[in-house]
Amino acid sequence: MTTDIAPMATPVLSVIIPVYNEEDGLAALFARLYPALDALGVSYEVIFVNDGSRDRSAALLREQWERRPDVTRVVLFNANYGQHLAIVAGFERVRGERVVTLDADLQNPPEEIAKLLAAMDAGHDYVGGVRRTREDSWWRRIASRAMNRLRERITRIKMTDQGCMLRAYGRDIVTAVAASREVSTFIPALAYTFAASPTEVEVEHAERVAGQSKYSLYKLIRLNFDLITGFSLVPLQMFSMFGMVVSAVALATYLVVITYRIFFAPGELGILLLWDRDILAFFLVGVIVFGMGIIGEYVGRIYQQVRERPRYMIRAVLEGSIEPPASGVERAVPVAGVDPSSRP
Ligand code: UDP
Ligand code: MG
Repeated sequence: MTTDIAPMATPVLSVIIPVYNEEDGLAALFARLYPALDALGVSYEVIFVNDGSRDRSAALLREQWERRPDVTRVVLFNANYGQHLAIVAGFERVRGERVVTLDADLQNPPEEIAKLLAAMDAGHDYVGGVRRTREDSWWRRIASRAMNRLRERITRIKMTDQGCMLRAYGRDIVTAVAASREVSTFIPALAYTFAASPTEVEVEHAERVAGQSKYSLYKLIRLNFDLITGFSLVPLQMFSMFGMVVSAVALATYLVVITYRIFFAPGELGILLLWDRDILAFFLVGVIVFGMGIIGEYVGRIYQQVRERPRYMIRAVLEGSIEPPASGVERAVPVAGVDPSSRP
């Protein structure tokens, strides 16, 4: 099995994979990922970040680390902080010059990494994957098309497929993302803002090998609010605009109504035909509550940000060489306390 292997020298490629309750699919992932990476012919490391899984994922990751300690590192969160923060934790530890992210469920075929690296060879520092066909439910496909379109219009981020996490980033971008300290973030978009020469390549997409999507409708909505609030103030500006338009229309309507009453039909109902104040009021109340909600989304994020709490806590990091079999003891490196870099 394992020999006494020196700690990894600086690899060319770092692959980061967030893992949350993926026990049923991990074996299949390992079986395809490592041969695909070996076939690339470059030195690499794989950093798994266990995002507080409540199943056997952490144990399976540990076994994999014991099998391939030369190229495997495992970061264990002590709770679930979300896919994007899991990737940040990976970003803070990468050693490779090129960094690839992908999902643990094999929806992003690891064999496609070669395409991303080829685009980097051509001089790009940010390579986004675009899923050629998408193997997800119809409502996910429709919703994400709508969100892609909305993001395209209200942010300056240009990407065809924001939901595809199979992406490659240059080391400088990764360093910048890791230094960003954002509590709620969306990695592909944040990284894009630092890219000098972004590009996209088409990649395959497959159905999940096992288990269920870890995103409920609620979590997806939250994630999209992170994306929109994180990269655009347009929703707030739209409300100022809307407020101005409503005021102007109200003033104009008032003038029309008063003129009508004075000059044409005192006491008649004519203008009331199309005018239902209650319905209009309900509509406007709805709009106002929605607007307050949007302000709340921003304010809540500001509140989270100013508290400067650590963004996540790491229980242990499994890395480095394993002692020769005699001891058989793992060398988990416990990280006391918290992610030190998220402190000012
Ligand atoms: N994931 C995570 N933390 C979460 C949710 C998801 O680390 O809170 C991981 C998950 O294990 C997978 C990736 O993020 O590796 C994408 O999740 P999933 O496949 O469920 O999302 P979908 O493909 O349905 O968008
Ligand atoms: Mg998936």
